Parts: sequence; C-alpha cells; structure tokens
Amino acid sequence: MAAPPVTAEVDTFGTNVSARTNPHPSPVDMMNNMTRYRRPRTASRRRFFGLAGSAAGAAFLAACGAGPEDHATATPAPPPAIPEAIELTPTPTPVPSPTVTPEVRRVFPPGDRGQVERLALPETAWQTPVYISRSGQAGPSVMVLGGVHGNEPGSWAAAQEIADWTPDRGLLIVVPRANVLAIEAGERTLKELGDLNRFYPGVPPEAEDAFPMQRMAHAIVELAREFQVSLLLDLHESWGFFNERPEDGTAFLGQTVTNGADVSESPRVEAVANKVNALIAERDQLVFRDRGRNRFTNVTQRPAFDPSWLRGGTSSLGIGGFVDDLVPVLIEMGQQNQTVDRRSELHQLFVRTALGHEGLLDLA
Ligand SMILES: [Zn+2]
Repeated sequence: MAAPPVTAEVDTFGTNVSARTNPHPSPVDMMNNMTRYRRPRTASRRRFFGLAGSAAGAAFLAACGAGPEDHATATPAPPPAIPEAIELTPTPTPVPSPTVTPEVRRVFPPGDRGQVERLALPETAWQTPVYISRSGQAGPSVMVLGGVHGNEPGSWAAAQEIADWTPDRGLLIVVPRANVLAIEAGERTLKELGDLNRFYPGVPPEAEDAFPMQRMAHAIVELAREFQVSLLLDLHESWGFFNERPEDGTAFLGQTVTNGADVSESPRVEAVANKVNALIAERDQLVFRDRGRNRFTNVTQRPAFDPSWLRGGTSSLGIGGFVDDLVPVLIEMGQQNQTVDRRSELHQLFVRTALGHEGLLDLA
C-alpha cells in the first residue's frame, strides 16, 4: 500500500517546539510555541476566531480548513432560540403578508472589460500573481485561491487555468499560487513561511515579526475587501476519498466541499455540489460538509487589528468574519488513485459550475 501522508496534517510548528527556550519570546516565537502555549480564552475571543463548534464537529474538521486549536477549544454552540413562544401570544388582527424580499447579492458595478494582473506582496520572495478578470457587466465578484499548500498540485494547476477565464458578468479574481515557495519545495508549507490556511485575517505589512504567510493572508483579505468578493473558492487536496475513508481524519477529505459560512448559505453551496455530482461518476462525487457554525458575516462585528492575531488565526473558512457578506468554500480533491489532471479537471468543473450558479458565467 502506498504511503498516504503526502497531505496528512502535521503540526507545522510542532517539530521545533522543544528547542525554544527564549524567556522573552517574540510574536514569531510565540507562534512557534503555539502547540504548548494555551492563551486564556474568553467567549468573545473564541467567537471571534470562529472556533466554537460541537465536539463531534471538531473531530470532523477539514485538514485544510481547521486550525489545530479547534480540537482543544471546541465547545458546544448554544442552541438556537426556539420561536414557539411567539405562537402563544394572541393573534393580532390579520394583516396582509409582507412580500418576500428577494435575496440581495452583492453586485460589482459595471466597468471596463479585460484582465489585469498585479502582484500580492510585491518585491518580496513570496510575491505571487493575482489575475483580475472583469466582464464589464455588473455582477457578483468571486475569488479563487490555488496553491495555498505546496503539495497539492491539482489546486494550482486548476487555478492557473481558471485565471484565463473571463466572466460574462461580474468579476473573477484568481490567485493561482498563493504560497510560491512551498510549491517550489513541493511541501505543504515551510516552517519559516507558516501555514497560510491558519492565518486569516493575517497581519498588515507594518507589523513586525510576522510570518510571510500571515502577510499573504492579510493581502488576500484586502483583495477580497477591495473587490467586494461575495464567494471565495479555496482549492485544496487531501489524500484519501472521504467516502472511502477507513477512519475519520484529515488525510481522508478527498472529494469534499465544505461550507464555512453561516448555515443560511448552505443551500447555495450544496446546490453547486449537487450540480457537479450530476455530471460525474460515482467515485468522483463530492460530499457536501456543512460545518453548521455561525461565523461573523458582517463587518460591523469586526474589530480593528489586534496584535494578538500574531499568535494565531483561522482557516479560509473563517474569512467571512473579516469581509462583509463573503461566503468561503473549501474544495478538497483526493490524491489517492486519482491523477493530478483529473483533480484539476474536477476543481475546474466545480468552479465553473459555481460561477454559473452565481451568475458570472452563462453555462450551456
Ligand atoms: Zn490544503
């Protein structure tokens, strides 16, 4: 049997924890010590980082989508308010039912059509291209991330193709190789870079002692804000297929789609997975995983930068807490017995279907 753990989750910082003895650690040292340093937590902090969830949910977390602290800090979410009491109040004089307000989606304004390229973190060793494709027509703004982890080649192969697409409406932003040095190394990431998918919302450029991928996380959040992104599709790979897993674990999340937003957005994401599944063979089919967690979805709840963010952050599934009305989605393809070309093809199919569902592309 082939050795599976090319994408198995390991603690990025765990290997050198014991070597650190500095009594006055810098923020970077504190990050390196994260696995043994447990800062006091308050309900608001936990809520801020979107880490609250059920214990069962914690055991079910995505390799790419959940921070290592989730397991230690997960607590049951409070039950939703039960509306039955409302029915006990006297019924007032009937009034006409209010008209159901159509769902309002953020619409990026019309403008020039064409593609522009810029760099995220320009003039650094970590700089990477950002492709912004404008349709010229009003419509939603969608962002696609590839290469967040350097040992997931199907993700950046797909994203590089998607970078050449031009939407029919709205705006498409693609960062095909978010962690270029990890891709060059063929590693999930490098210790000195940090794990981009643990660092949102990142830290601004003026912060000292930040990991490069903390700066990249900040650059991605800033892009999403600038272009009013309403849907983030973060492309990843796991090893085994979720439906074939011998056990639960982060190495067996292949062929899954995970919604990190408020559960009210779940049907929107699940509908895309269902459309894709109608087009592909049974083994390839995607499992929709609703994390069922309420996260910040409104910027009014977002605090200003807090230096404590240097010590940790959230995966892309928590990015909705930092960009108003953004719905993040994590897509994982399995590497086991599935070629990189097929993984790329399925990633592209998912993104194309999502863009059709959101109105950016007119699909046949
Ligand atoms: Zn990944």
